[in-house]
Amino acid sequence: MGSRRSAGSYNAFKTKWGSCHPDSGNIRLNTDLAKKPPECLEYIVLHELAHLRERTHTNSFYQLLNNHLPQWRDIRHLLNSLPLSDSF
Ligand SMILES: [Zn+2]
Repeated sequence: MGSRRSAGSYNAFKTKWGSCHPDSGNIRLNTDLAKKPPECLEYIVLHELAHLRERTHTNSFYQLLNNHLPQWRDIRHLLNSLPLSDSF
């Protein structure tokens, strides 16, 4: 009683910058983000937080991003143009 754990529903969203476990509310971030411009970190945190509300990239997911960080597309563009030092 009281346990809502169910094996098999535990999914993690993973990108190269972070991951999010909606069932536990756990968010992990790539430590490399600390070396990037602060707005990049803000964008990734917001993206992962939005996944706690919307599991997939639905319209309402993007609506959340738009509401909280209207310039998120620019930041994503910046982020994608930055090298990831993780790879060596
Ligand atoms: Zn995502």
